[in-house]
Amino acid sequence: MSLLVVGSVAFDSVQTPTATRENVIGGSAVYFSYAASYFNPVRLVGVVGEDWPEEHTSMLQQRQVDMAGLQIVPGSETFRWSGKYLPNMNDRETLEVHLNVFGDFDPIVPEDFKNSPYVFLANGSPVVQMKVLEQVDNPQLVVADTMDLWIREFHDELLELLEKVDGLVLNDSEAKLFTGEENLIKAGHKILSMGPRFVIVKKGEHGAMFFSEEQTYVLPAYPTSEVVDPTGAGDSFAGGMMGYLAEKEAHDIESLREALAYGTLVASYNVEDFSLDRMQQIERKELDERFATYKKMLNLG
Ligand code: AMP
Repeated sequence: MSLLVVGSVAFDSVQTPTATRENVIGGSAVYFSYAASYFNPVRLVGVVGEDWPEEHTSMLQQRQVDMAGLQIVPGSETFRWSGKYLPNMNDRETLEVHLNVFGDFDPIVPEDFKNSPYVFLANGSPVVQMKVLEQVDNPQLVVADTMDLWIREFHDELLELLEKVDGLVLNDSEAKLFTGEENLIKAGHKILSMGPRFVIVKKGEHGAMFFSEEQTYVLPAYPTSEVVDPTGAGDSFAGGMMGYLAEKEAHDIESLREALAYGTLVASYNVEDFSLDRMQQIERKELDERFATYKKMLNLG
């Protein structure tokens, strides 16, 4: 089933306690698309400047990512983000954000993307997220992501968006910032009362929490000791989750639980190297194998 994503397409520069990478391919829509492409084709809506190499576009096209919605703006530069991880590899500091062409992004959903039943509004301004939503005809499942920058600067727009989405994905510190609650259970329920049918709070190496009217639960992260670069963990989690749902053509509570597990596993691979490097080495088979191990790990019976 068709899956559309809008989000950032970026050059990232990342410092970890042991290594540094400059100007590697990144961005919320990129991580999301690569992760979702293990399960289902993706339609990407985004923007880049003329410094964007054609090879990046063709690499994604080879992964069943339809790039017809990528605007290339002449005379402009692509969004750039740089961050530095603390020794615990969980907390990070944003060193620089140059929104560049992403700052004035006016998204245009191509005509043949408008019927997409599954939509992911990846990390980006809630104004852009809303503009995309307005161009899609009757989607079945809309999930959004957000982050501290947008929570601080576009709070009201985010509240408006929440009335129109089925799910929200955000990390623990963002959930606290957004709600003013220190207790994550309270924070999750508070966001639920703002409109979405479910809320997923990501907790990095501690996994993810799911909140809905019917269920609240925690899924642990897959225990990998190879954490090289956590950038994109959240987006690849969301990509795995939405890709699985789109493939299964379902979004009932049980399918959501399986989808969260697959999201967790794609993210667990993604953090094993910089940029898309680790994901580029694996196939669906590796995900299914890790899924079997993960299931055994959780078996309480
Ligand atoms: P994650 O580690 O899942 O939070 O995602 C990191 C990715 O988000 C990086 O590839 C960045 O390029 C991208 N990113 C960072 N800040 C923003 C922002 N304000 N809006 C959209 N994307 C961002």
